[in-house]
Amino acid sequence: MKADLHCHSCFSDGALNPQQLIAKAQAQGLALLAITDHDTLDGYLSVCSEQRVSGAPLLIPGVEFSCVWSGVLIHVVGLAFDIDASALQEGLRRLHQARVERMHIIAGRLDKLGLVGSLEAVQGFAGNGQPGRPHFARFLVEQGYVKNHAQAFSRYLGAGKMGDVKTLWPALREVVGWIRASGGVAVLAHPLYYKMTATKLRALLGDFCVAGGQAMEVVSGVQQADQTRYMARLCQQFGLHASLGSDFHAELAYGCDLGAMAGLPAECTPVWALWDSAVR
Ligand code: MN
Ligand code: MN
Ligand code: MN
Repeated sequence: MKADLHCHSCFSDGALNPQQLIAKAQAQGLALLAITDHDTLDGYLSVCSEQRVSGAPLLIPGVEFSCVWSGVLIHVVGLAFDIDASALQEGLRRLHQARVERMHIIAGRLDKLGLVGSLEAVQGFAGNGQPGRPHFARFLVEQGYVKNHAQAFSRYLGAGKMGDVKTLWPALREVVGWIRASGGVAVLAHPLYYKMTATKLRALLGDFCVAGGQAMEVVSGVQQADQTRYMARLCQQFGLHASLGSDFHAELAYGCDLGAMAGLPAECTPVWALWDSAVR
């Protein structure tokens, strides 16, 4: 089964709207698609009641949640939850508040550095969606303060820089709790992205399992075969189900095209084996 269970629409920091993502997924021959915007379900909600056309992928409800574990910003993808569950809605409300607060903190810090005007710009870019650091990166690039997106993150927005505001995010175990309480499946997103030592990554996976996490992304975007083997080995050692996703944001930008990543290794149990037992 061809699936992409991690991508972004314009309701967070993606370029395409949900209809365009679905059309693209259909053109790629995907059977399953989850639009996993950062901390919002609004993209999914904007299309979930539309009639599914023949050949279109089955749309799985999804959100990419921000949280903190051991001082590190971690992403957890929630899939196949009950969209009306109060735990989910409460959690999303809290994350929206955290994002708005963070936007004001980052804008204030940039102002102090003389890089003024980011608040209005970011509010404009985000529209009704969730304000994120890529919106600040766009501001910094457009104003000529940095050469490109990567430099915006390495100088101002990335881990350990002034835009890395972690204190507002909920703990990993809370986010996993919301997802499970809403009948969904909690997936540890892109484990290699955190650049942890093997020991630290094992500690993260251990705590994730204790919190109720059930799956991890064994394939995330374009990765080397040995990285996939490493992820598959961890997935099996921790008794997790395996997920996969492109983390697609935009055409011709950084990252992998929608549905263009490798499939799951044969030894992994795919995450969709859990749908039937999920409360839906
Ligand atoms: Mn993103
Ligand atoms: Mn992520
Ligand atoms: Mn993502």
